[in-house]
Amino acid sequence: MTSAELACWRLLEFLVDNPGFKLREELLLFVRPPGRSDYTDTVSVEKRSEIMSKIRGKGTKPELAVKAFLEEAGASFMYQPKIAGHPDFLVAGRTAVFVNGCFWHGCPEHYKEPKSNVEFWRAKVRRNAERQDEAITELRALGYRVFVLWEHSVRDGSFEKDLQQAVEG
Ligand SMILES: [Zn+2]
Repeated sequence: MTSAELACWRLLEFLVDNPGFKLREELLLFVRPPGRSDYTDTVSVEKRSEIMSKIRGKGTKPELAVKAFLEEAGASFMYQPKIAGHPDFLVAGRTAVFVNGCFWHGCPEHYKEPKSNVEFWRAKVRRNAERQDEAITELRALGYRVFVLWEHSVRDGSFEKDLQQAVEG
């Protein structure tokens, strides 16, 4: 890994943890700064995608907040259970819970289209949505209840009411 890639990695980790950060889109995509024509993209689209998927796999802040809530509620749950559709949580053995990132899942309130590689990101967010629809269908067919929580509902705390139902349900 080159020092530029390492710097990008650190930036990405920072940004994933700080989604309110204003330069998020620009930095996520490593676009060249305005007026710097000598600045070239440091990683390919494929590499970037690979880095993103690794970071996502680590457990994002919203997921960790949900995990903390479930622990505190004394719920019986599994984090990243190995079941169909790969939900983020399985609560009480029968409720699958997804925590959707506002960026990755194209939140109607918070998704801001990146300024470069527009087609790539559009396709990616669309694929995420399609994959989740399939996962939900599959889980329901298997008899699971499904809850989808938005990252923003985790951030403002409004998810707790919904999730409490899942815990008690
Ligand atoms: Zn949102």
